[in-house]
Amino acid sequence: MKIVVCVKQTAGGDLNPFDACAYEAALQIKDAEVILLSMGPEKTAELLLSLTRLGAKQAYLLCDKAFAGADTLATAYTLSLAVKRLSPDLVICGRQTIDGDTAQTGPSLAVAAGLSLITNVMEIKSLDGQLTCLTRELGEQTVSYPALITVERINHLRLPGIRSKKGEVIRWDAKELGADVSRCGLKGSPTKVLASFQNEEGKRKCTFVEARELDRLIEEGLSKERSRIGKADLQNDKKLQKVWIIGESPRQMAETVSDDVTVICREVGKCQETRCERQSEVQEKDYARWLADLARKEQPSAILWGSDAWSKRTAPQVASLLQTGLCADCTALETDGEQLYMYRPAFSGNIIAKIACVTRPQMATVRTLAADAADVICALGRGAKKAQPLIEEYVRRKNEGGSVRWETAASRVAVDSEMMPYEKQVGLTGKSVNPPVYLAVGISGAVHHIAGMKQSGLIIAINPDRKAPVFEYADYGIIGTAEEVFQI
Ligand SMILES: Cc1cc2nc3c(=O)[nH]c(=O)nc-3n(C[C@H](O)[C@H](O)[C@H](O)COP(=O)(O)OP(=O)(O)OC[C@H]3O[C@@H](n4cnc5c(N)ncnc54)[C@H](O)[C@@H]3O)c2cc1C
Repeated sequence: MKIVVCVKQTAGGDLNPFDACAYEAALQIKDAEVILLSMGPEKTAELLLSLTRLGAKQAYLLCDKAFAGADTLATAYTLSLAVKRLSPDLVICGRQTIDGDTAQTGPSLAVAAGLSLITNVMEIKSLDGQLTCLTRELGEQTVSYPALITVERINHLRLPGIRSKKGEVIRWDAKELGADVSRCGLKGSPTKVLASFQNEEGKRKCTFVEARELDRLIEEGLSKERSRIGKADLQNDKKLQKVWIIGESPRQMAETVSDDVTVICREVGKCQETRCERQSEVQEKDYARWLADLARKEQPSAILWGSDAWSKRTAPQVASLLQTGLCADCTALETDGEQLYMYRPAFSGNIIAKIACVTRPQMATVRTLAADAADVICALGRGAKKAQPLIEEYVRRKNEGGSVRWETAASRVAVDSEMMPYEKQVGLTGKSVNPPVYLAVGISGAVHHIAGMKQSGLIIAINPDRKAPVFEYADYGIIGTAEEVFQI
C-alpha cells in the first residue's frame, strides 16, 4: 500500500502534533510505502529530512514563492497536484494544524484530489479491500480507495533508532507541479484578512471575594435572569439577502446579518420541509455534491454552518466544489448589505481577525452554543490537575442535591494532558456554552477559551495568580489554589 502523509511545520518550527499522529499511524501499517508531503518554505526541508529517519524514504516539499500566504482552498489545490502525481492508495492528514486550526485542509484536499473521505479517525479498523475506521463522533465508517483520512491525537510518534538512515527530500516548485499560479498562495485565496485588532470582547468588572462566598455567589447566579445569554455581538443596520443556514444551529448568528434566512436540512431523508423533499433522494455521502449543485442553481449570498464535526467535515468539501472561501469558527458577523465580514480569534490569542470572502457564496462555520443545558458548569484547567478528584467529588455531591444540574468541562490544555475527554473542551476549537453559572478553575483565560464561555450568565474564576487574564472576563474572582478552595 502506498501512503502519502501530509505534514506541516508550525510557525514555531515544530511538526504539527496532529500530523505527528498521522505519520505514526502510517508507519504502523505493515508493508506500506510511506511518503511525506509538505507545502512550506525552504527551511521545512530540514524537518522533513529528520522525519525520514523514522521510516519514510522520500519526502516531497512543495516550495515556491507563489505558494506563500495560501488559505485552505489554495493549500488543498496545491497539495492535490502532488497527490495526483504520487497516486497513493491512502492519504493521511492530521485533523488540523494548531496554528491555523481550521480542520479544513483535509476535507478540501479529498475533494480536490478525488479521494473518498473519513475525518476524525480514532482507529484504523481494517484496510482489506475497503477502508474502515472508527471515528470520534460518527462511529464506524467504510469507504473505498483511494481515500483520505484525518486523524485525532491517537498515538505518539516514535523516536528514531540510533542506526536509522536519512531518506531524501525532493523539491517541487510551481512549474514542476504544473500549477496554475492564479489558484495558489495569496493570489488564489478567496478569504482575505482585512484587519486585526485587540480583543476586548467579553470583558467584565471583576469583584474579588473570599472562597467561603462561593456557594452564595452560585445561588445568586442561578436566580438571575439569563438576560445576557445569546445576545448578538454586533448590531447590523443593513442586511444580507438570501442567506442559507445548514441545520438550525447557526440561526441566531445568521439573523444578526439577514432577515432572509433559509434553513437547509442536514438530516438526509428525514425532513418534511419543501427543500428537503428534494434532498430525501440524497445519500449521506453525496450531500456535499447535492448542496453545491443547489447553491450553483439558487445562488445564495452566504452559507453558514455550525461548528460540530459533521459541519466541519462537510463545509470544506462544499467550499472546494464551489471554489469559494470558508472562514472557520467565526464568533461574530457583520455586513454592509453586500459583503459578509467574519470575525474570528487569530493565532496567539488576544487578536481578532476581520475576514472577508471575495468569492460567492460567502461561507463560514460559526460558533454555536452547545445543546446541553447544565445550570452550573465547572471547568477545569491545567491548574486544577491536583485538585481534580476533589472538584469531581464536589460536583457529584452538588448533583445529588436535586434540581440544579452541574457538569464539568475543560480547557484545551486539560484535554491535551488527558485530564478530560475532548467532548468536554470549551473554547474556540471545543464547544461554546452559556450556563447561568460558569466556574473557571485553574484556567488562565486565553482568548481561545474565553470564546467558548463568555456568554455565560455569571462567571466566577478561581486562580492563585491575581494577574491571570481570566479575572478580566469574570464577575467574581477568588484568589487561591483549587486545592484550598475545594478542600471545604
Ligand atoms: C488556534 C488555537 C485554538 C485554541 N482553542 C482552545 C480551546 O478551544 N479551548 C481552550 O481552552 N484553549 C484553546 N487553545 C489554547 C489556549 O490558547 C490556552 O493555551 C489554554 O486555554 C490554556 O489552558 P489552561 O488555562 O488550562 O492552562 P494555562 O494557561 O497553563 O493556565 C493554568 C492556570 O492555572 C493556574 N494555576 C496554577 N496552579 C493552580 C492551582 N493549584 N489552583 C488553581 N489554579 C492554578 C495558573 O495561575 C494559570 O493561570 C487554543 C489555542 C490556539 C492557538
